[in-house]
Amino acid sequence: MSEHRVVIVGAGMGGLCSAIALAHQGLEVTVVEASGAPGGKVHSREVNGAHIDSGPTVFTMRWVFDDLLRSVGTSVEAEMRITPLQVLARHFWPDGSQLDLSADARESEAAIAAWSGGEEARRFRDFCKTTRQLYATLEGPMIRAQRPSMGGFMGELGFKGLGVLAQLGPMRSLWQQLGHQFSDPRLRQLFARYATYCGSSPWQSPATLMLIAQVEMDGVWSVEGGMVGMAQALARVAHRRGAVFRYNSRCQRIEMRQGRVGGVHLESGEFLPAERVIFNGDAAALRQGLLGDDVRRAVPTDAPPRSLSALTWSMNTPAEGVALDRHNVFFQSTYASEFEDIFERQRLPEQPTVYVCAQDRPAPLPNGQAERLFCLVNAPACGDGNAINEEALEQCQTHTFQHLRQLGLNLRPTASNSLRTTPWDFHQRFPASGGALYGQATHGWTSIFSRPGSTTPLQGLYLAGGSVHPGPGVPMAALSGRRAAEALMASLALTSTYPRGATFGGMSTP
Ligand SMILES: Cc1cc2nc3c(=O)[nH]c(=O)nc-3n(C[C@H](O)[C@H](O)[C@H](O)COP(=O)(O)OP(=O)(O)OC[C@H]3O[C@@H](n4cnc5c(N)ncnc54)[C@H](O)[C@@H]3O)c2cc1C
Repeated sequence: MSEHRVVIVGAGMGGLCSAIALAHQGLEVTVVEASGAPGGKVHSREVNGAHIDSGPTVFTMRWVFDDLLRSVGTSVEAEMRITPLQVLARHFWPDGSQLDLSADARESEAAIAAWSGGEEARRFRDFCKTTRQLYATLEGPMIRAQRPSMGGFMGELGFKGLGVLAQLGPMRSLWQQLGHQFSDPRLRQLFARYATYCGSSPWQSPATLMLIAQVEMDGVWSVEGGMVGMAQALARVAHRRGAVFRYNSRCQRIEMRQGRVGGVHLESGEFLPAERVIFNGDAAALRQGLLGDDVRRAVPTDAPPRSLSALTWSMNTPAEGVALDRHNVFFQSTYASEFEDIFERQRLPEQPTVYVCAQDRPAPLPNGQAERLFCLVNAPACGDGNAINEEALEQCQTHTFQHLRQLGLNLRPTASNSLRTTPWDFHQRFPASGGALYGQATHGWTSIFSRPGSTTPLQGLYLAGGSVHPGPGVPMAALSGRRAAEALMASLALTSTYPRGATFGGMSTP
C-alpha cells in the first residue's frame, strides 16, 4: 500500500499551495473541490460578458509566491503577469477631501503634508518607522512560523522584539494606538481600516495589526487575468507537478480507520483512500460535524467569534463623477457605528464604508465607457440565520449607493448591470462559515494563539486556509498551505520509507 497518498479537500489558496509543494515532492496528490474551478474565495462573476473579480482584489506579500514557486523550480514571472501599482489606494471623505496612499512612502508623506500639514506628515513618517519595526519583529515568529504557543512566541521574540511590542502597547486596540499615532481623525480612520483586512473591528483588534499597513506599503500588485488568473496559474503548476484535480467533487466525510485517517468519501458515493488529508475548508465545518463525527475533534469545540462577511456588487457599468484609481475607499464621517452595527447588533451597517475596485484602472478610460467594478461593504457573518432579510439588503444597497453619490461617484446597480452577493451566498459557498470570509475575528491580543495550526490531534489530518494559522488573506492562506505541507512531510519522514535527508521548501527531513 502506498504511504504517500494525500487528498486535499478544497482548492482555495491554502489547498493549492499545499498541492504544489507536495506534488513536487512526488507524493500522490488528489485535490477534491466542491465547485467547478480553483481559487475558493478567489472567484469571479460574469456580468454582461465581463468577468469581474468578486473575491480578493488586493494582492500583497508577493514574496510568499516567489518563495513557493522558486522552491518548485519556477517563478512568479514565469507563471503569471503581475504589475506593481503606484497608488495603493485612493480615499474619499464626506468633507470632500481625498488622499492617495502611494507605493513610495515619500510621495504619501508629501501628499499628507499638503493635505493635513507638516506635523501630520512627520507623524506618518514615525508611523512608517513603527510599522516597519513591527513587521520585521513579527514576520519570523508569527507569519512564517508554524502556529506558536504563547511561551514559544515570547521566546522567539527575544529581548529586542519584546521591546518593540512593549513600546507599542500590545494590549491596546488598533483604534487606541492609532489615536496616539495621528491627530488627524481621517488618518486614524484610514489606517484603522486595515483591521478589516482580516475581518475584524479596529476597536477590538490588537494594535499589532498595524503591521498590515506595512504589508501594503511593501507593495500591491495587479494580476493579468485578475486574481482568478493567479489561482488558475497555481492550479496549473500543481497539475504539472502531478497533482490531480477533481472539481465538482464535494467531500462528504473524512474517514478515520484504526486511529488514523483512512480516506475521504465524496458526495457521489466514491471513496478515495488516503493516508493523509489536508482540509482547506473553514475549520468551523469540522467543528460542526459537516465532515463526519470522526473528525469533529480535529479542532477545539468552542466556536470562536466569526470575522466579517460582506455584501458585494459585481458591476459592469460606467463610473461617473469622480476619478477612480484601482482601489478606492469611501469613508463615512462616523466610523464606530459601522462596527457596532456589525459586531454588536449583528445587522448590516446603516452607514457603511464602501470599497470600490475599478478593475480596468489605473489606465484612463473614455468617459461613459462601461467598466468592471467590484463594490463591497462589510457585513455580519450571520448568513446561516434569518437576521438579514430582503428588506435589510435593499436598505443597505440604498444607503451604499446614496453614500457613493454624496461623495461624487454616480453608480446605479440594476438587474442587468450588477450581481449582488450576500452573507447567505457566501455561507452556501463556504459551509459552516455563516458567510465569514476571514475565519475567526482577530479580536484581543491573544487571538493569534487560538487559531488552529496545521496539525490536528488526529493522525494524518492537517489543516490549511484562512481559518487557521497564520490567518486570513491570500498570502497568509498560501503560507498556511505550505505549513500544512511541511508538517505532513515531517510526519512522513518520521513514519515511513520517505527518503531521509530529502529537502522540502528549505526544510530538511530528519
Ligand atoms: C469578497 C472578498 C474579499 C477579499 N479581499 C481580500 C483581499 O483584497 N486581499 C486578500 O489577501 N484577501 C482577501 N480576502 C480573503 C481571501 O480571499 C481569503 O483569506 C483566502 O483566499 C482564503 O483561502 P483559503 O485557503 O482559506 O481557501 P478558501 O478560499 O476558503 O477556499 C476553500 C475551498 O474549499 C472548498 N471546500 C470546502 N469544503 C469542501 C468540501 N467538503 N469538499 C470539497 N471542497 C470543499 C470550497 O469550495 C473552496 O473552494 C477576501 C475574501 C473575499 C470573499
